[in-house]
Amino acid sequence: MRQTLRRAAITGHPVTHSRSPLVHGYWLKKHGIKDAEYDRVDVPPMNAETYYRNFRESGLVGANITVPNKEVAARSCDRLDDAARTMGAVNTIWLDGSGRLCGANTDWLGFLGNLDQLAPGWDEKAGTAVVLGAGGAARAVVFALLARKFTRVHIVNRTLEKATKIADEFGSRTIAQSWDKLGTLLEEADLLVNTTSLGMTGKPPLEIDLSPLPVSALVTDAVYAPLETDLLKQAAARGNRTVDGLGMLLHQAVPAFETWFGLRPEVDDELRALVVADLGASQ
Ligand code: NAP
Repeated sequence: MRQTLRRAAITGHPVTHSRSPLVHGYWLKKHGIKDAEYDRVDVPPMNAETYYRNFRESGLVGANITVPNKEVAARSCDRLDDAARTMGAVNTIWLDGSGRLCGANTDWLGFLGNLDQLAPGWDEKAGTAVVLGAGGAARAVVFALLARKFTRVHIVNRTLEKATKIADEFGSRTIAQSWDKLGTLLEEADLLVNTTSLGMTGKPPLEIDLSPLPVSALVTDAVYAPLETDLLKQAAARGNRTVDGLGMLLHQAVPAFETWFGLRPEVDDELRALVVADLGASQ
């Protein structure tokens, strides 16, 4: 009997740079799943609303969504999980048994999965966090830190209004801050997270003076190209524990794979090495 092929894909614009096919392809092969595949589907913004509203006709069982389509895809879903509703953005969609389009945002789970794996016990104190940036990645990180009961989350952003908007939405444990307050904020930080695109290959550097930061603080970066950003280098050199951003990318894919293909995969060393090699090849 011929089996139906279960297809999922990364959708967005552009999608050529995406590592998701590598990640899901690795898990499909590792688990010997032969009736499924993971592709790339370029969905330009002008077609995005029509594409996601008519997702049933795509031939896919589900998809990942990348920039700039995360918000329009969320608006096209019949059901959203809590994180997607709070963030107004989805990175994972699927059709349920009744053909309804369901959406989730798993970036916050990726952030947590990465730190849980590479810095066990990182959230035991759950005290004060300083988050640099107020874009999509910052929303996921703030959602994650509040879920882990951090008592205070400072959101530091060049455009203060964007930080204020997040703080207003997420409640009294989140505080919007301007960049000139950073030195004072670092003095009381247990965790520093960069979610700006600064420090990424091809973007301006992240210029930061870490001297007020306690050496006990954990420092992590959402940027994963380069893998060891200047922020992480600087933090490690003064004795802070550091975690790079690649694991956030890998762990956000775990619940998506499980939803579409019915098996919870692991982020193992071989997968990490595969993606690191691919990142190296494209730099
Ligand atoms: P975004 O929504 O466009 O937000 C970009 C952020 O960077 C904003 O806060 C922006 O500040 C700030 N920024 C950009 N240029 C700046 C500059 N010259 N000076 C000061 N601030 C600047 O992007 P995003 O989706 O949040 O992604 C941010 C980074 O995280 C990217 O490098 C992305 O690759 C990475 N990321 C990684 C993962 C992962 O899985 N590891 C997941 C998501 C994102 P303004 O508001 O002032 O413009």
